[in-house]
Amino acid sequence: MMAFRVVSDPVGWKDKLKACKKFKGGYAAYETAAKAYEAGVRSGAVAAGETFADHDQGTLPTKGNSATKEFPPLWGAKDNAILARKAKMMDNAKGKCVYCESPAFADQFWQVEHFRPKSLFPTLAYAWGNYLPSCSLCNHSKSNKWPQGGYVAPHEDANPAAHFQFDDGGGIAALQGDAKAEATVRDMDLSREGLTRAREAAIAATTARVKALLEALEGADPALRAAVRAVVATAFRATEAEPYSAAVNAAIDRVLQA
Ligand SMILES: [Zn+2]
Repeated sequence: MMAFRVVSDPVGWKDKLKACKKFKGGYAAYETAAKAYEAGVRSGAVAAGETFADHDQGTLPTKGNSATKEFPPLWGAKDNAILARKAKMMDNAKGKCVYCESPAFADQFWQVEHFRPKSLFPTLAYAWGNYLPSCSLCNHSKSNKWPQGGYVAPHEDANPAAHFQFDDGGGIAALQGDAKAEATVRDMDLSREGLTRAREAAIAATTARVKALLEALEGADPALRAAVRAVVATAFRATEAEPYSAAVNAAIDRVLQA
C-alpha cells in the first residue's frame, strides 16, 4: 500500500450536482436524506447493515424499469473537468493501484473506488476526497464491505505501508494486533496468487543486486563495507513510482540487517 494525496473537486462539480435532475426531489433532497441516514446509523435508529438504498424514502432513482435503486454515476461522464481530475488522481497514485501497488498499464482497467462505500456513507458518494484509484481486482474484492474500524487508509495514514510485513516469497501479512491491516489484507485480497508472485519477482530482482554487491565486498575494509551498506540503504530503495515498493524496501532492509 502507498500514501495517496486526494484530488480536489473538479471545477463546477458542486453546480453539476445541484443541477443533476436524476435525484428525485433534486440533489438537496438526496443530501438531506443521506445526512439523516448517517445520523440514524450513529444513533442506532437505523438497523445495523441496512444500506442507504434500503432506507432511502425515494431520493435515489431506480435503474431502468427495475426496482433497484442506483446512485447516478456522475463521475463517469465524458466531461473534460472530470477527466482532468481522474488523470490527476492517477498521477498522484504514480500510476499504481493504491492498495496492491500493481502498475496500471495502459490497457488495464482501473477504477475510481469509494474508500468508504456509498451504500453505507451516502454523504461521501460524490466527495472526491473519498475517491481512490484502484485496480479492478482490489476494487471488486473490497466491494461494499466496511468492517468495524475500517481499513488502513492510503489517503489518511502518513505511512500506510508500516501496517504490513512482507516476506521474500512475496507474502504480505498485517502486523500482529493491527485489525485495520488484517481487514485490508483479507478484503482487498492482497494475498492473491498472481499478486504474491509479482511481489516476489520485484523483491528478487532488487535483492539479487544488493546481495551481489555485499558479497563482492566480503573481506574488504570494514569502513568501506559500512559506507557501501549506508549507500545501499538509500540508493537501491524503490521509489513510490515503482510497483510493490513497500515489499521491495522491506526486503532491502532485511538483507542489510542479515
Ligand atoms: Zn489493486
